[in-house]
Amino acid sequence: MASAKRNTVRVGILTVSDTCSRKEAVDKSGPNLKKLAEDTSGLDGVVVATGIVPDEISSIKETLLEWSDVKELDLILTTGGTGFADRDVTPEATKSVLEKEAPGLAMVMLMGSLKITPLAVLSRSVCGIRKKTLIVNLPGSLKGSQEWFGFAQPSLSHAIQLLKGERACVKATHKELADTGPQTINMVSNLPTVSPHGHHNCQKIRHHDVEKVARRPRDSIYPVIPFKDALKIVMDNAPVLPSEVVDIKDALARVVAEEVKAPISLPPFRNSIKDGYAVLASDGPGVRQVMNDATAGDAPDLELLPGHVIRITTGAPIPKGADAVVQVEDTELVEEADDGKREVSVRILSTPTAGQDIRPIGSDLQEGTMLVIPGTKLCPPELGLLASVGITKVKCHRRPVVGVCSTGNELTEPSEKLPPGHIYDSNRITMLATLLELNVPTVDVGIAPDTVQATKEVLLKAASQSDVIVTTGGVSMGEKDLLKYVLSEELKATLHFGRIFIKPGKPTTFCTFEHEGAKKLFFSLPGNPVSGIVTFNHFVLPCLRRMMGHADLHLKRIKVRVQDDLKLDPRPEFQRALLDWQSPEDGVPLASTTGNQISSRLISMRQANALLALPPRSDEQPTIPKGSLVEAVVLRL
Ligand code: AMP
Ligand code: MG
Repeated sequence: MASAKRNTVRVGILTVSDTCSRKEAVDKSGPNLKKLAEDTSGLDGVVVATGIVPDEISSIKETLLEWSDVKELDLILTTGGTGFADRDVTPEATKSVLEKEAPGLAMVMLMGSLKITPLAVLSRSVCGIRKKTLIVNLPGSLKGSQEWFGFAQPSLSHAIQLLKGERACVKATHKELADTGPQTINMVSNLPTVSPHGHHNCQKIRHHDVEKVARRPRDSIYPVIPFKDALKIVMDNAPVLPSEVVDIKDALARVVAEEVKAPISLPPFRNSIKDGYAVLASDGPGVRQVMNDATAGDAPDLELLPGHVIRITTGAPIPKGADAVVQVEDTELVEEADDGKREVSVRILSTPTAGQDIRPIGSDLQEGTMLVIPGTKLCPPELGLLASVGITKVKCHRRPVVGVCSTGNELTEPSEKLPPGHIYDSNRITMLATLLELNVPTVDVGIAPDTVQATKEVLLKAASQSDVIVTTGGVSMGEKDLLKYVLSEELKATLHFGRIFIKPGKPTTFCTFEHEGAKKLFFSLPGNPVSGIVTFNHFVLPCLRRMMGHADLHLKRIKVRVQDDLKLDPRPEFQRALLDWQSPEDGVPLASTTGNQISSRLISMRQANALLALPPRSDEQPTIPKGSLVEAVVLRL
């Protein structure tokens, strides 16, 4: 799936050929280029569009325009129509849509090809840029197109990163390119560094002076990384916290850090399953003297004599000499005394068998049985089980303290009067309440206004009080979106990523930094309430679960059947949906989306109990029809 790839390059392959377009010849170059473009040891792209057009300027141009302007592909490879024949017009069509030419790319291919054949000189290949799309003309033959692609390929990722504004990747790529041989084109130097594994160190990404609003970049300077890579970076940075001893009364939802075995057996003594009479089974039915009574909680040293019974209650110890219990319903009174306060004799109506209605020692739980293992979350059944064997203290992982902060000049506390132009802060209480549900200690850091100084102060204060800090707002492209700047420039935090290829939640940012001798984890989530909640669930929760020692880290994914026709987005999208568990046709829950998915619409979240994990749109799959099976992330039941 495209989303699994790092720095995904979305590629279109256009075959230009009269004969192929009339189906008089089979297109071999197009499918071969697809294979090459998707080769993970090379460009590692995803071919999201393919097409065959005749050698006509209008058809070529139309496709190039659609793929660059509408589909916003990163790279278009054309194959065919670059020669000297009458109808060869691919370079002309390409030129007519280019905003900038990239002659170096054409040259590097030509130079490579000339080493193989002098006829390469007859190629008229054109390369260049339209908007954010790089367009490269390749020859039409299978061999030629493969060779020419091979010569251009080492430079392509580099060029595409530049176009995407992924400046952080440039220097690393520059080095990789330099290692690939003489065809390398040195395009950029003196740019910020980044580890080639996506651990982008934002201290080295240059931020503009935030005061100079007119000079701010109009495209994000942060690379967009796939969801899986982002999650991995977060998890790799989440330490499992050490353990502490916790009283079981305070241990709800805590995670055990040790094996706990039963120190005793349950029941610890033979006891009665029923209210009735302890008997000797071999005495059989008939009238018996009632010797005494044994009630639960007493442990008198009673001994049953043959021909007698002892009245007994559920849970009471079985007297010595007794080997069965006859329930009271299977008996009748024969004689009473003391005005009904005493039973003298009863009739046993049934024929007891030895062992009947007696729980032997250890029949519920044997001493030494494993009760919980490291990673177990203590829920009510676990706490009850520990209590049942007298364990009151258990070693649990420490919980991270999580500071929650909203940012934005427009935010007002829900308890206050709403000034004009303001909205109520709903994110903070949502996050704090989610943490409360998990029994994670929280610090309410309040609302930070949109100034560098205030944001810095609030973040530092939050860092002093917490292990993990979650902020919402201030991470996208607005002039007041200061979080990335403050974190990387002012706090000198290591910014691991600043954008993720998902919807909603693209500007989600994750940093770590040392503060007062400890490593702090910093999630800056987007401000729109739905984006905030979705990314909180996807990234913050698994991180906290890892820190708290949970064995089970990730949100549960199940297959569901969609009840609507769904349009796919170019990004992998999480759509809010309501799962109907009641009326699944074949055991698969039915999923209805919760209406308009705009990320400010909090009510779409309120109505949802799951997120549909939808793949990015492709030519092969532009929509998901009603009735299809898709994956859903279960948020609650
Ligand atoms: P930002 O990410 O700061 O650009 O905010 C994006 C949108 O989310 C804006 O419309 C904000 O007003 C809104 N928003 C930001 N923070 C909150 C919050 N704490 N509660 C509700 N809405 C918010
Ligand atoms: Mg804001």
